[in-house]
Amino acid sequence: MSHIPRILIVGGGYVGMYTALRLQRRLRRGEARVTVVDADSYMTYQPFLPEAAAGNIEPRHVVVPLRRVLHRCEIVNGWAVGVDLQARTLEVHPHQGPPRTLPYDILVFAPGSVSRLLPIPGVAECGIGFKTVEEAIHLRNHVLAQLDLAASTEDEEVRSRALTFVFVGGGYAGVEALAELEDMARDACRYFPSVDPGDMRWILVEATDRILPEVGPDMGRWTLEQLRARGIDVRLNTRIESAEGGRVVLDDGGEFDSATLVWTAGVKPHPLVRASGLPLDDRGRVRATAELTVEGHPAVFTAGDCAAVPDLTKPGQTCAPNAQHAVRQARTLADNVVAALRGTERKAYRHAYAGSVASLGLHRGVAQIYGRKLRGFPAWFMHRTYHLSRVPTFNRKVRVLIDWTLALFFRREITSLGALSDPRKEFEFAARPESRIPERAERPVREGRPGPRAAEERSGSPAPAERR
Ligand SMILES: Cc1cc2nc3c(=O)[nH]c(=O)nc-3n(C[C@H](O)[C@H](O)[C@H](O)COP(=O)(O)OP(=O)(O)OC[C@H]3O[C@@H](n4cnc5c(N)ncnc54)[C@H](O)[C@@H]3O)c2cc1C
Repeated sequence: MSHIPRILIVGGGYVGMYTALRLQRRLRRGEARVTVVDADSYMTYQPFLPEAAAGNIEPRHVVVPLRRVLHRCEIVNGWAVGVDLQARTLEVHPHQGPPRTLPYDILVFAPGSVSRLLPIPGVAECGIGFKTVEEAIHLRNHVLAQLDLAASTEDEEVRSRALTFVFVGGGYAGVEALAELEDMARDACRYFPSVDPGDMRWILVEATDRILPEVGPDMGRWTLEQLRARGIDVRLNTRIESAEGGRVVLDDGGEFDSATLVWTAGVKPHPLVRASGLPLDDRGRVRATAELTVEGHPAVFTAGDCAAVPDLTKPGQTCAPNAQHAVRQARTLADNVVAALRGTERKAYRHAYAGSVASLGLHRGVAQIYGRKLRGFPAWFMHRTYHLSRVPTFNRKVRVLIDWTLALFFRREITSLGALSDPRKEFEFAARPESRIPERAERPVREGRPGPRAAEERSGSPAPAERR
């Protein structure tokens, strides 16, 4: 029986999924088999994460199930942990069971990036990133839970800590996540009579002297003014020194307690890149040729956030890590894999960065596309139209459109479903009620005469002194 070449794709994100989609369309039956290895069973459309966090889009609609769209490919879920470039094999650890060794003829290496963390005391313990749908949904539940907490406590310190939200990093992930969540929380305040929007502190800490470089200096300055006009405390040229126990200390002298620290200060190549043995540049990215093969390894292709791809429109520079490049690189990469199989000529990747669009909350946005600057509603509308046209599959487009249409007619949901991440809590309580409610005899007994608060709690109405 003749050998059918195996194309092994590491990472089912932007590059991996779009490459596999194009390969399954272009490859002839029996020409090659395609296997995609990813820790998750879905691809995440990251530009929609801020809207998912704000409750404008259902979380399930910002992810694309790999098995449904890649019906001609094999999907293996697990962590790729190492590549043997001599033997042409990939070691994969499925989430359970023994490791697997998968042979390949052509490897597409696209594990993307992870948050770039700095060794700042407390950040790894208290912080959270904003790269995955799990993080976005956790943050939505967490912010709403902080409003619930602030409305329910009488302790000023607890309240102030709950209502202080800190974001570190002013790129599009940080600015969009902060702007959308602040918009959502401000809107939710109408259901919390004891929480005024002005009681909340939203702080953006940025180490350089500008935010949102993706939309250019003018639009970045405009965005800064807009955020400050909304009461958001944007601190430029400022770094976080520590966040131990949620006590945030800044190098401009600022110091406060916060229950929310979101880390969006850039990305670095996935740790698998260093373990791969592939040649790296000074930023730890895989050195790619313009044809998207790895330098010195013609059977290994790479692209996306993990790769240093030469930007042919700006000689001497490499492409920035963004979806705009990742999607287009995937197209060229897939065509070059087909060319490698058929022995035909490969193409070089070339794309001039078109600019960027960012959402700053409902009906507010900023954009710079092909030199055209847009702000406010037109930019927000463009953001939605552009991403709707880009989100993969017709099915997802329709679902996102329905979410947006429903949001026009109904108010946002304000329930925190944070307990979803701990579903056994109630069952454990049923088994061991004493874990939450002390036995009657053990309850603390107040000494002396009951105060006004105790009287209020017994009668259910405000104490006389407070009624006045
Ligand atoms: C909040 C946010 C908003 C953004 N908005 C925009 C925007 O508006 N415009 C824009 O151009 N760009 C945007 N980006 C950037 C864009 O999403 C990324 O540049 C793009 O996802 C990079 O694609 P990739 O394929 O390299 O990596 P990814 O899409 O991250 O895919 C990598 C995949 O590899 C998998 N993986 C990693 N390691 C392993 C392993 N060891 N084993 C198995 N699987 C593994 C991961 O699970 C993941 O599925 C945004 C990013 C974020 C976080």
